[in-house]
Amino acid sequence: MTPTPMVEIASMIAWINRYADRISEHQAWLTALDAEIGDADHGINMQRGFEEVRMRLAHEHVDDLGVLFKGIGMTLLSKVGGASGPLYGTLFLRMGMVAAGKQTLTPVEFANAVAAGVEGIRQRGSARPGDKTMVDALMPAIIALHQALDDGATLCAALQAAAAAAEAGMKATIPMQAYKGRASYLGPRSIGHQDPGATSAFLLVQSAAESLCAAEHNSD
Ligand code: ADP
Ligand code: MG
Repeated sequence: MTPTPMVEIASMIAWINRYADRISEHQAWLTALDAEIGDADHGINMQRGFEEVRMRLAHEHVDDLGVLFKGIGMTLLSKVGGASGPLYGTLFLRMGMVAAGKQTLTPVEFANAVAAGVEGIRQRGSARPGDKTMVDALMPAIIALHQALDDGATLCAALQAAAAAAEAGMKATIPMQAYKGRASYLGPRSIGHQDPGATSAFLLVQSAAESLCAAEHNSD
């Protein structure tokens, strides 16, 4: 039996850098979505945060996944304004707690770390599924990720399933009315628009699938 490929620090850095690329490419789209039901800054907020993260990753040598994720979380907390900064910051801080002291994670440990991060977002923002937030993309992604790994999928295949679930969750925010965040001020007028945070959350899961599938392929 071939050993289960481990999640390495290099592939986590590749994930985050790929996400920074995706955020840059889609900055205008995320901002336009936020213009419809918010204050037109989501793409700008995320780009500011992840460009800072990218710069720090290029200059720091990290050999502990806990330190890596904690550093990302702290940067997002300090650099990203609005609701999304503390929420994405919490995701990475919680992942850092689970991964503290580790240089590699098994796929299940990685899934557990992300699940702890999503739970942190739920606690911090108190959004429930159906409230039209990033939680509506992240929760189905975590469920799909665990399910696929339980079924014996590789991490690449499991993350592809998670990305498909996140995409469906993102699209499912369109007919929802917002009950959390700025969009909730619009009441029923928030219906008919895709949530910007659910969109950036989908891009995060999609970036993980792309970068970890590349890592799995290279280790063949
Ligand atoms: P702000 O709304 O402060 O301008 P952003 O525009 O950067 O912040 O982010 C908006 C996104 O944050 C929303 O689309 C939504 O997905 C997410 N969001 C807002 N409030 C919450 C919350 N309480 N829980 C989870 N996600 C939230
Ligand atoms: Mg906004």
